[in-house]
Amino acid sequence: MSAERELQGSQSAFARSLHSMPGGNTRTTTYYPPFPVVLSRGEGCYVTDIDGNRYIDLLNNYTSLIHGHAHPRITERIMRVIGGGTVFPSPIEAQMELAERLVTRFPSMDLVRFTNSGTEAVLWGVRAARAYTGRDTIVQAFGSYHGGWEQVSALPEPGESASRGIPGRVRELVLGVPYNDVGALEALMHREGNDVAAILLEPVLGHTITEGSVEFLQAAQRLAHEHGALLVLDEVITARMSTAGCQGLLGLRPDLTTLGKIIGGGMPVGAFGGRRNIMDLFDPRGELAMAHHGTFNGNVLSMEAGVASLDLLSEAEIMRIDDLGHALETGLRDAVAAMGFPAEVRRAGSILHIDSPLMPSIHKSALKQGVFIAPRGQMSISTPMTEDVISQAMDRLEKALRAARAQP
Ligand code: PLP
Repeated sequence: MSAERELQGSQSAFARSLHSMPGGNTRTTTYYPPFPVVLSRGEGCYVTDIDGNRYIDLLNNYTSLIHGHAHPRITERIMRVIGGGTVFPSPIEAQMELAERLVTRFPSMDLVRFTNSGTEAVLWGVRAARAYTGRDTIVQAFGSYHGGWEQVSALPEPGESASRGIPGRVRELVLGVPYNDVGALEALMHREGNDVAAILLEPVLGHTITEGSVEFLQAAQRLAHEHGALLVLDEVITARMSTAGCQGLLGLRPDLTTLGKIIGGGMPVGAFGGRRNIMDLFDPRGELAMAHHGTFNGNVLSMEAGVASLDLLSEAEIMRIDDLGHALETGLRDAVAAMGFPAEVRRAGSILHIDSPLMPSIHKSALKQGVFIAPRGQMSISTPMTEDVISQAMDRLEKALRAARAQP
């Protein structure tokens, strides 16, 4: 790395971590060669590493920190309650407060339950769809990502292999369609629809920031219903698109919705919810009630931080950070075009993606310039950002693009 950015501390920490974690790592996306920067502090839209280098944080823990790091209103709420216990084996009022906010914001959600991650939210949403329909098959899009669980995680493109450790018989329960291909979805549902429990879709493919077309998403809703299946909309990333997520923008009414990331204000969280008669499956007073487990479901800190996070996220704030996203997109597009750089820039609201064969070099150069982005090119805007921060980030990214280009 550059002389001005000492990374001795990160390098030694990496050597140390290799003794206790495979590859020194406990979350695959946080590794990049030769060793990842070790962060020690976050404030607003900045992070600092253990060598004291400061970065503009355009990664925001993969979109979950919509209010950046340690937002005073969220921190204050956590500090107010933390001395009184962090988790209880009983309901707490903060669960009701967060649940009420979610069912108010998302008209398709009559009832909601909490989990500890977006992965778990999808897991339970899919289980609910299977239980409700009495069917096993799930339809999802190639290139989608729904978390780290068994069959519905990162459905590979045809010909690519799935993660090892997922049984072939489990994989057979998932059928893939090309994203935004209405004809392919129609044909698949025509053929297999009677066995399908749910069409599970992201409204925007988070991995590549590919926006779902209204036609495709509406066709999915219609086809699911025509065949007695459910539409499960995974809004773990896209909840930020409006106060009612992407479904609010596109006029969709999914049977079930899965949420995570921003609804926890930086604490671990997930939620699944939807139509009352489906969610009633989990009503413990029912004769055939389904159990829904999780020692930390609805824990104090996730609920309190979540309430603060949603209360800060008004429609006006969403529009403001979307505009900042637009400014960054325009700056990046202009820079790429002016340089003839081999890259494509995509944006949906306040989430962006640079797609380039030179991504590893861009990422490395961005770190040197003091901008934190995902190794694969994902970025997002947080509410502490201003026009000045974006133009500073843009200057640094432009330098990073030039440096990446100059690398052998
Ligand atoms: N669904 C989508 C669309 C996601 O983007 C993610 C995470 O990035 C998940 C589910 C899984 O969420 P978590 O990482 O909280 O388990």
